[in-house]
Amino acid sequence: MIIVMKADTRPDSPEVGRIIALAESFPGVSTQIHHIQGATRSVTEVYLLGSTGVIPATPFEEFEFVEKVVRVTEKFRAIGRHAGGLEAVGFEYNGVRISQDTLHVFAGVCAVDERKNIDETFAALAQHGLTTTRAGVYKPRTSPYDFQGLGAACLPWLFESAGKHGIKLICMEITRESHLEEIQQALAASGQATGVMLQIGTRNAQNFELLKAVGAQTELPVLFKRGMGITLEESLNACEYVASGGNRRIVFCLRGMKTNLGDPHRNLVDFGHVPVVKRLTRLPVCIDPSHSVGRRTTGADGILDIFHVTAQGVIAGANLVLVDVHPRPEEALCDGPQALLLPELEHLLDDIAIARRAYEERLARARRA
Ligand code: PEP
Ligand code: MN
Repeated sequence: MIIVMKADTRPDSPEVGRIIALAESFPGVSTQIHHIQGATRSVTEVYLLGSTGVIPATPFEEFEFVEKVVRVTEKFRAIGRHAGGLEAVGFEYNGVRISQDTLHVFAGVCAVDERKNIDETFAALAQHGLTTTRAGVYKPRTSPYDFQGLGAACLPWLFESAGKHGIKLICMEITRESHLEEIQQALAASGQATGVMLQIGTRNAQNFELLKAVGAQTELPVLFKRGMGITLEESLNACEYVASGGNRRIVFCLRGMKTNLGDPHRNLVDFGHVPVVKRLTRLPVCIDPSHSVGRRTTGADGILDIFHVTAQGVIAGANLVLVDVHPRPEEALCDGPQALLLPELEHLLDDIAIARRAYEERLARARRA
Protein backbone atom coordinates (compact mmCIF):
# COMPACT_ATOMS: atom_id res chain seq x y z
CA MET A 1 0.00 0.00 0.00
CA ILE A 2 1.29 3.45 -0.89
CA ILE A 3 0.14 6.66 0.73
CA VAL A 4 0.71 9.56 -1.66
CA MET A 5 0.98 12.84 0.24
CA LYS A 6 -0.31 16.11 -1.23
CA ALA A 7 2.25 17.83 -3.48
CA ASP A 8 5.23 19.46 -1.79
CA THR A 9 4.76 17.73 1.59
CA ARG A 10 8.25 17.36 3.03
CA PRO A 11 9.37 13.82 3.95
CA ASP A 12 10.34 15.01 7.45
CA SER A 13 7.08 16.91 8.07
CA PRO A 14 4.73 16.21 11.02
CA GLU A 15 2.08 15.11 8.49
CA VAL A 16 4.32 12.28 7.27
CA GLY A 17 5.06 11.48 10.91
CA ARG A 18 1.33 10.96 11.58
CA ILE A 19 1.02 8.59 8.62
CA ILE A 20 3.99 6.56 9.83
CA ALA A 21 2.57 6.38 13.35
CA LEU A 22 -0.82 5.19 12.11
CA ALA A 23 0.72 2.68 9.66
CA GLU A 24 3.05 1.19 12.24
CA SER A 25 0.22 0.82 14.74
CA PHE A 26 -0.94 -2.15 12.62
CA PRO A 27 0.87 -5.35 13.62
CA GLY A 28 3.74 -6.45 11.37
CA VAL A 29 3.71 -3.28 9.27
CA SER A 30 6.79 -1.17 8.63
CA THR A 31 7.21 1.93 6.48
CA GLN A 32 9.61 3.33 3.92
CA ILE A 33 9.57 6.94 2.75
CA HIS A 34 10.24 7.99 -0.82
CA HIS A 35 10.62 11.56 -1.88
CA ILE A 36 10.54 12.34 -5.59
CA GLN A 37 11.65 15.74 -6.78
CA GLY A 38 9.63 16.07 -9.96
CA ALA A 39 9.97 18.61 -12.72
CA THR A 40 7.39 21.01 -11.31
CA ARG A 41 6.59 19.65 -7.85
CA SER A 42 7.83 17.21 -5.28
CA VAL A 43 5.97 14.14 -4.14
CA THR A 44 6.39 12.23 -0.90
CA GLU A 45 5.12 8.68 -0.73
CA VAL A 46 4.93 6.43 2.31
CA TYR A 47 5.25 2.74 1.47
CA LEU A 48 3.59 0.33 3.88
CA LEU A 49 5.45 -2.98 3.94
CA GLY A 50 4.35 -6.30 5.43
CA SER A 51 0.85 -7.68 5.75
CA THR A 52 -0.99 -4.66 4.40
CA GLY A 53 -3.84 -6.57 2.70
CA VAL A 54 -6.07 -6.22 5.76
CA ILE A 55 -5.34 -2.55 6.43
CA PRO A 56 -8.29 -0.29 5.55
CA ALA A 57 -7.59 2.70 3.30
CA THR A 58 -10.19 4.99 4.89
CA PRO A 59 -8.28 6.15 8.00
CA PHE A 60 -5.44 7.30 5.71
CA GLU A 61 -7.73 8.86 3.12
CA GLU A 62 -9.40 10.95 5.81
CA PHE A 63 -6.29 13.04 6.42
CA GLU A 64 -6.56 16.28 4.44
CA PHE A 65 -2.85 16.11 3.58
CA VAL A 66 -3.19 12.73 1.84
CA GLU A 67 -3.61 12.89 -1.94
CA LYS A 68 -4.53 9.25 -2.37
CA VAL A 69 -4.05 5.72 -1.18
CA VAL A 70 -2.90 3.22 -3.79
CA ARG A 71 -2.96 -0.51 -3.33
CA VAL A 72 0.09 -2.17 -4.87
CA THR A 73 -1.25 -4.35 -7.64
CA GLU A 74 1.87 -5.30 -9.57
CA LYS A 75 5.30 -6.65 -8.93
CA PHE A 76 7.09 -3.38 -9.62
CA ARG A 77 6.40 -1.85 -6.28
CA ALA A 78 8.63 1.22 -6.57
CA ILE A 79 8.69 1.91 -10.31
CA GLY A 80 5.23 0.62 -11.26
CA ARG A 81 2.09 2.62 -11.95
CA HIS A 82 -0.20 0.19 -10.11
CA ALA A 83 -3.10 0.05 -12.52
CA GLY A 84 -2.79 3.74 -13.35
CA GLY A 85 -2.99 4.74 -9.67
CA LEU A 86 0.33 6.60 -9.76
CA GLU A 87 1.44 9.34 -12.11
CA ALA A 88 4.88 9.60 -13.67
CA VAL A 89 6.54 12.63 -12.09
CA GLY A 90 10.00 12.55 -13.65
CA PHE A 91 12.94 14.41 -12.16
CA GLU A 92 15.22 17.37 -12.60
CA TYR A 93 18.98 17.11 -12.33
CA ASN A 94 21.55 19.83 -12.95
CA GLY A 95 18.93 21.94 -14.70
CA VAL A 96 17.79 19.16 -17.06
CA ARG A 97 14.17 18.02 -16.71
CA ILE A 98 13.54 14.42 -17.63
CA SER A 99 10.10 12.83 -17.56
CA GLN A 100 7.70 10.76 -19.63
CA ASP A 101 6.74 14.00 -21.42
CA THR A 102 10.13 15.46 -22.34
CA LEU A 103 12.60 14.59 -25.12
CA HIS A 104 16.39 14.92 -24.92
CA VAL A 105 19.11 13.80 -27.30
CA PHE A 106 22.25 12.39 -25.68
CA ALA A 107 24.63 12.37 -28.63
CA GLY A 108 28.26 11.59 -27.89
CA VAL A 109 31.13 9.17 -28.12
CA CYS A 110 30.85 5.50 -27.23
CA ALA A 111 34.28 5.69 -25.60
CA VAL A 112 36.38 8.70 -24.67
CA ASP A 113 39.72 8.55 -26.50
CA GLU A 114 41.58 11.78 -27.25
CA ARG A 115 40.90 15.20 -25.88
CA LYS A 116 40.75 16.79 -29.31
CA ASN A 117 37.93 14.42 -30.30
CA ILE A 118 35.99 15.28 -27.15
CA ASP A 119 36.47 19.02 -27.59
CA GLU A 120 35.37 18.78 -31.20
CA THR A 121 32.33 16.67 -30.32
CA PHE A 122 31.21 18.93 -27.47
CA ALA A 123 31.69 22.02 -29.64
CA ALA A 124 29.44 20.47 -32.30
CA LEU A 125 26.80 19.64 -29.70
CA ALA A 126 26.90 23.19 -28.34
CA GLN A 127 26.49 24.52 -31.87
CA HIS A 128 23.24 22.56 -32.12
CA GLY A 129 22.07 23.67 -28.68
CA LEU A 130 22.56 20.24 -27.09
CA THR A 131 23.52 20.12 -23.42
CA THR A 132 23.30 16.36 -22.95
CA THR A 133 25.79 13.76 -24.15
CA ARG A 134 27.22 10.29 -23.65
CA ALA A 135 30.87 9.45 -22.99
CA GLY A 136 32.15 6.02 -21.97
CA VAL A 137 35.18 5.95 -19.72
CA TYR A 138 34.83 2.46 -18.22
CA LYS A 139 34.13 0.09 -21.09
CA PRO A 140 32.95 -3.49 -20.57
CA ARG A 141 34.31 -5.28 -23.65
CA THR A 142 33.62 -8.74 -24.96
CA SER A 143 37.34 -9.38 -25.42
CA PRO A 144 39.87 -8.63 -22.67
CA TYR A 145 42.32 -7.50 -25.39
CA ASP A 146 40.07 -4.69 -26.58
CA PHE A 147 40.31 -1.08 -25.38
CA GLN A 148 38.86 -0.96 -21.87
CA GLY A 149 38.37 2.81 -21.63
CA LEU A 150 40.64 5.53 -20.27
CA GLY A 151 39.19 5.23 -16.76
CA ALA A 152 39.39 7.87 -14.04
CA ALA A 153 42.50 9.48 -15.55
CA CYS A 154 40.49 11.29 -18.22
CA LEU A 155 37.69 12.53 -15.94
CA PRO A 156 39.34 15.88 -15.02
CA TRP A 157 39.77 17.01 -18.63
CA LEU A 158 36.49 15.44 -19.75
CA PHE A 159 34.52 17.39 -17.13
CA GLU A 160 36.49 20.55 -17.83
CA SER A 161 35.70 20.31 -21.53
CA ALA A 162 32.03 19.60 -20.77
CA GLY A 163 31.83 22.67 -18.53
CA LYS A 164 33.47 24.80 -21.20
CA HIS A 165 30.89 23.79 -23.80
CA GLY A 166 27.84 24.06 -21.55
CA ILE A 167 27.23 20.31 -21.27
CA LYS A 168 24.99 19.72 -18.26
CA LEU A 169 24.65 15.98 -18.28
CA ILE A 170 26.93 13.14 -19.41
CA CYS A 171 25.60 9.60 -19.55
CA MET A 172 28.51 7.43 -18.41
CA GLU A 173 28.64 3.70 -17.82
CA ILE A 174 30.08 2.30 -14.62
CA THR A 175 30.92 -1.35 -14.10
CA ARG A 176 31.79 -1.39 -10.42
CA GLU A 177 30.92 0.55 -7.30
CA SER A 178 34.34 2.22 -7.00
CA HIS A 179 33.70 3.98 -10.35
CA LEU A 180 30.86 5.84 -8.70
CA GLU A 181 33.23 7.25 -6.08
CA GLU A 182 35.80 8.16 -8.74
CA ILE A 183 33.15 10.08 -10.67
CA GLN A 184 31.84 11.87 -7.59
CA GLN A 185 35.37 12.89 -6.58
CA ALA A 186 36.22 14.15 -10.06
CA LEU A 187 32.95 16.09 -10.29
CA ALA A 188 33.69 17.73 -6.94
CA ALA A 189 37.27 18.53 -8.02
CA SER A 190 35.91 20.12 -11.22
CA GLY A 191 33.64 22.37 -9.14
CA GLN A 192 30.60 20.43 -10.49
CA ALA A 193 31.49 21.62 -14.01
CA THR A 194 28.85 19.25 -15.38
CA GLY A 195 26.56 16.41 -14.23
CA VAL A 196 26.67 12.65 -14.69
CA MET A 197 23.94 10.08 -15.22
CA LEU A 198 25.27 6.65 -14.26
CA GLN A 199 24.72 4.09 -17.00
CA ILE A 200 24.23 0.43 -16.13
CA GLY A 201 25.09 -1.47 -19.29
CA THR A 202 23.21 -4.43 -20.65
CA ARG A 203 25.98 -6.77 -19.48
CA ASN A 204 25.41 -5.63 -15.91
CA ALA A 205 21.63 -5.58 -16.07
CA GLN A 206 21.48 -8.29 -13.42
CA ASN A 207 24.56 -7.30 -11.43
CA PHE A 208 22.45 -6.86 -8.33
CA GLU A 209 25.26 -5.55 -6.12
CA LEU A 210 26.01 -2.79 -8.64
CA LEU A 211 22.29 -2.00 -8.93
CA LYS A 212 22.05 -1.75 -5.15
CA ALA A 213 25.09 0.55 -5.08
CA VAL A 214 23.67 3.04 -7.58
CA GLY A 215 20.31 2.80 -5.83
CA ALA A 216 21.77 3.56 -2.44
CA GLN A 217 22.92 7.02 -3.54
CA THR A 218 20.44 9.66 -4.59
CA GLU A 219 22.84 12.28 -5.92
CA LEU A 220 23.26 10.98 -9.48
CA PRO A 221 20.47 9.69 -11.75
CA VAL A 222 20.73 6.25 -13.33
CA LEU A 223 20.18 5.09 -16.90
CA PHE A 224 19.46 1.38 -16.85
CA LYS A 225 19.95 -0.52 -20.10
CA ARG A 226 17.65 -3.43 -20.65
CA GLY A 227 19.29 -6.84 -20.40
CA MET A 228 20.00 -8.10 -23.91
CA GLY A 229 18.86 -11.67 -23.30
CA ILE A 230 16.34 -11.51 -20.46
CA THR A 231 12.64 -10.73 -20.43
CA LEU A 232 11.28 -7.22 -20.07
CA GLU A 233 9.86 -8.24 -16.70
CA GLU A 234 13.29 -9.37 -15.51
CA SER A 235 14.82 -6.06 -16.62
CA LEU A 236 12.10 -4.10 -14.84
CA ASN A 237 12.71 -6.12 -11.70
CA ALA A 238 16.40 -5.28 -11.95
CA CYS A 239 15.45 -1.60 -12.16
CA GLU A 240 13.34 -2.10 -9.08
CA TYR A 241 16.59 -2.88 -7.23
CA VAL A 242 17.77 0.68 -7.94
CA ALA A 243 14.48 2.26 -6.95
CA SER A 244 13.99 0.20 -3.80
CA GLY A 245 17.38 1.38 -2.59
CA GLY A 246 16.03 4.93 -2.55
CA ASN A 247 17.11 6.37 -5.90
CA ARG A 248 14.04 7.16 -8.00
CA ARG A 249 15.84 9.13 -10.68
CA ILE A 250 15.92 6.29 -13.17
CA VAL A 251 15.65 6.14 -16.95
CA PHE A 252 14.90 2.84 -18.67
CA CYS A 253 16.81 2.35 -21.93
CA LEU A 254 15.85 0.06 -24.82
CA ARG A 255 18.95 -0.97 -26.79
CA GLY A 256 17.86 -3.98 -28.82
CA MET A 257 17.84 -7.68 -28.03
CA LYS A 258 20.63 -10.12 -28.80
CA THR A 259 19.45 -12.65 -31.37
CA ASN A 260 20.42 -13.57 -34.89
CA LEU A 261 16.80 -12.93 -35.82
CA GLY A 262 17.68 -9.23 -35.94
CA ASP A 263 20.35 -9.70 -38.63
CA PRO A 264 21.72 -7.72 -40.37
CA HIS A 265 21.27 -5.31 -37.47
CA ARG A 266 23.52 -5.79 -34.44
CA ASN A 267 20.49 -6.37 -32.21
CA LEU A 268 16.78 -6.83 -32.79
CA VAL A 269 15.28 -3.36 -32.41
CA ASP A 270 12.80 -3.35 -29.54
CA PHE A 271 11.42 0.18 -29.67
CA GLY A 272 7.88 -1.22 -29.86
CA HIS A 273 8.32 -1.50 -26.10
CA VAL A 274 8.50 2.30 -25.58
CA PRO A 275 4.76 2.61 -24.81
CA VAL A 276 4.83 -0.67 -22.88
CA VAL A 277 7.47 0.56 -20.42
CA LYS A 278 5.68 3.91 -20.11
CA ARG A 279 2.47 2.09 -19.26
CA LEU A 280 3.96 -0.38 -16.80
CA THR A 281 6.25 2.04 -15.01
CA ARG A 282 6.67 5.68 -14.10
CA LEU A 283 10.10 5.79 -15.74
CA PRO A 284 11.12 7.98 -18.67
CA VAL A 285 12.16 5.76 -21.59
CA CYS A 286 15.35 6.07 -23.63
CA ILE A 287 16.12 4.46 -26.97
CA ASP A 288 19.64 3.62 -28.15
CA PRO A 289 19.49 3.34 -31.94
CA SER A 290 23.29 2.99 -32.27
CA HIS A 291 23.70 -0.19 -30.24
CA SER A 292 20.48 -1.57 -31.75
CA VAL A 293 21.43 -1.14 -35.39
CA GLY A 294 25.22 -1.21 -34.94
CA ARG A 295 26.11 -0.04 -38.45
CA ARG A 296 25.94 2.97 -40.74
CA THR A 297 23.91 1.36 -43.51
CA THR A 298 21.56 3.49 -45.56
CA GLY A 299 18.08 2.45 -46.66
CA ALA A 300 16.99 2.35 -50.31
CA ASP A 301 15.30 5.68 -49.60
CA GLY A 302 18.62 7.29 -48.69
CA ILE A 303 17.89 7.48 -44.97
CA LEU A 304 20.31 5.81 -42.54
CA ASP A 305 18.92 2.75 -40.69
CA ILE A 306 19.93 4.50 -37.45
CA PHE A 307 17.72 7.47 -38.39
CA HIS A 308 14.83 5.17 -39.25
CA VAL A 309 14.81 3.36 -35.92
CA THR A 310 15.34 6.61 -34.02
CA ALA A 311 12.22 7.98 -35.69
CA GLN A 312 10.34 4.79 -34.80
CA GLY A 313 11.19 5.22 -31.12
CA VAL A 314 10.50 8.96 -31.02
CA ILE A 315 7.16 8.66 -32.83
CA ALA A 316 6.19 6.13 -30.16
CA GLY A 317 6.93 8.63 -27.38
CA ALA A 318 10.57 7.98 -26.37
CA ASN A 319 11.97 10.54 -23.91
CA LEU A 320 15.70 10.22 -24.54
CA VAL A 321 17.81 9.24 -27.52
CA LEU A 322 21.27 7.89 -26.73
CA VAL A 323 23.25 8.00 -29.96
CA ASP A 324 26.90 7.49 -30.91
CA VAL A 325 28.77 10.18 -32.83
CA HIS A 326 32.49 10.61 -33.44
CA PRO A 327 34.52 13.23 -35.32
CA ARG A 328 36.59 10.45 -36.94
CA PRO A 329 34.76 7.10 -36.58
CA GLU A 330 37.56 5.25 -38.39
CA GLU A 331 39.88 6.16 -35.50
CA ALA A 332 37.38 5.40 -32.71
CA LEU A 333 38.62 2.80 -30.23
CA CYS A 334 35.15 1.37 -29.67
CA ASP A 335 32.07 1.03 -31.87
CA GLY A 336 33.38 3.25 -34.69
CA PRO A 337 31.27 1.42 -37.34
CA GLN A 338 28.02 2.67 -35.78
CA ALA A 339 29.08 6.25 -35.02
CA LEU A 340 27.41 9.10 -36.89
CA LEU A 341 29.62 11.86 -38.27
CA LEU A 342 29.39 15.28 -36.65
CA PRO A 343 28.03 16.92 -39.83
CA GLU A 344 25.19 14.34 -39.74
CA LEU A 345 23.97 15.72 -36.40
CA GLU A 346 21.91 18.42 -38.01
CA HIS A 347 20.04 15.92 -40.18
CA LEU A 348 19.50 13.63 -37.18
CA LEU A 349 18.09 16.43 -35.04
CA ASP A 350 15.77 17.60 -37.85
CA ASP A 351 14.56 14.04 -38.32
CA ILE A 352 13.96 13.66 -34.58
CA ALA A 353 12.02 16.94 -34.55
CA ILE A 354 9.79 15.66 -37.39
CA ALA A 355 9.11 12.41 -35.50
CA ARG A 356 8.44 14.29 -32.25
CA ARG A 357 5.93 16.60 -33.95
CA ALA A 358 4.21 13.53 -35.36
CA TYR A 359 4.09 12.00 -31.87
CA GLU A 360 2.59 15.19 -30.43
CA GLU A 361 -0.05 15.23 -33.17
CA ARG A 362 -0.84 11.59 -32.50
CA LEU A 363 -1.17 12.38 -28.82
CA ALA A 364 -3.53 15.30 -29.50
CA ARG A 365 -5.57 13.08 -31.83
CA ALA A 366 -5.80 10.32 -29.22
CA ARG A 367 -6.97 12.80 -26.59
CA ARG A 368 -9.78 13.97 -28.91
CA ALA A 369 -10.91 10.40 -29.55
C1 PEP B 1 27.31 1.50 -24.57
O1 PEP B 1 26.32 2.25 -24.46
O2 PEP B 1 28.42 1.89 -24.91
C2 PEP B 1 27.13 0.07 -24.29
C3 PEP B 1 28.15 -0.72 -23.99
O3 PEP B 1 25.85 -0.29 -24.38
P1 PEP B 1 25.14 -1.69 -24.03
O4 PEP B 1 25.34 -1.91 -22.57
O5 PEP B 1 23.71 -1.43 -24.41
O6 PEP B 1 25.78 -2.74 -24.89
MN1 MN C 1 29.27 1.18 -27.46
